[in-house]
Amino acid sequence: MPLDLDRDLTDLRTAAATYDTRHHVITNCAWPDGARIAVNFTADFDAMLLRRLLNEPPMQLAKGEFGGRVGIWRLIELFDSHAIKATIFTPGRICELYPQAVKAAARSGHEIADHMWEHRVPKDPALKLDHLRKTAAAIERLTGRRPVGTRSAHTFSILREEGFIYHSHNAPDYRPHYIGDPDGPGVLLNLPFHYAIDDAMFFSFAWLDTENAAQRMMDPDHVFDIWWAAFLQEYRQGGYLNICLHPFVSGRALRIAMLDRLITQMKGLPDVWFPTCEQVARHCVAAYPPPQSGSPVR
Ligand SMILES: [Zn+2]
Repeated sequence: MPLDLDRDLTDLRTAAATYDTRHHVITNCAWPDGARIAVNFTADFDAMLLRRLLNEPPMQLAKGEFGGRVGIWRLIELFDSHAIKATIFTPGRICELYPQAVKAAARSGHEIADHMWEHRVPKDPALKLDHLRKTAAAIERLTGRRPVGTRSAHTFSILREEGFIYHSHNAPDYRPHYIGDPDGPGVLLNLPFHYAIDDAMFFSFAWLDTENAAQRMMDPDHVFDIWWAAFLQEYRQGGYLNICLHPFVSGRALRIAMLDRLITQMKGLPDVWFPTCEQVARHCVAAYPPPQSGSPVR
């Protein structure tokens, strides 16, 4: 038994060391023009796609549709009213389903980034590449710009080859950081978010096929307090916040009103920067270049 424990601990230490060498955090990241914090408002424009993949019943699909018919428009209006440029992570199929909304978001200056073709990354390499290229082409057709960012588990090397400069998916840190390829020298910038600042964790009833005990329908004022505290903590130490919204979740009127109050209060403090993820990524890559290719990360 002690031998098993020793072996387990050795395995754990090895795994931790391997993990550590793959991650390179940008410490003391300074933002342009003396900004104290960068706040990325991001919206995952899933609508009903993920719910369809999970074979959820029609009433659940209808909740997703609300995001494409109403929620996305309300979010665009909200961001525009505050002159905030957001990043909309958009599945390729959404470009077919809600082209007017995607075009309107791009016209307002919001970044349209990749969120897979139909909210999944296929295992088959050829199909995987096909999905990434189809999504990039669909976004470019509507917006005139190829996406440079993704929220997905696409393979880093493929992303780089297709011109992507960042992803916003994993959350091993609260600061922007480079993550190395699992089996090679390349890296990709990650702009982390966390479930504590993801609307679906607070407002999604019947989220991802969950049981009743896992249902959430929280008071927006309570969520306001949690998110304000998260913002304030990052603001005090000088940092980064990536707020993850979903049009079918946050697009409801009472939650839009809460976000309106939150943004207004954030703007009440000096030196708060509201860029797109692409702006953050370009700043990081230029000011804090990725570790040399061929050398271990860190
Ligand atoms: Zn999604």
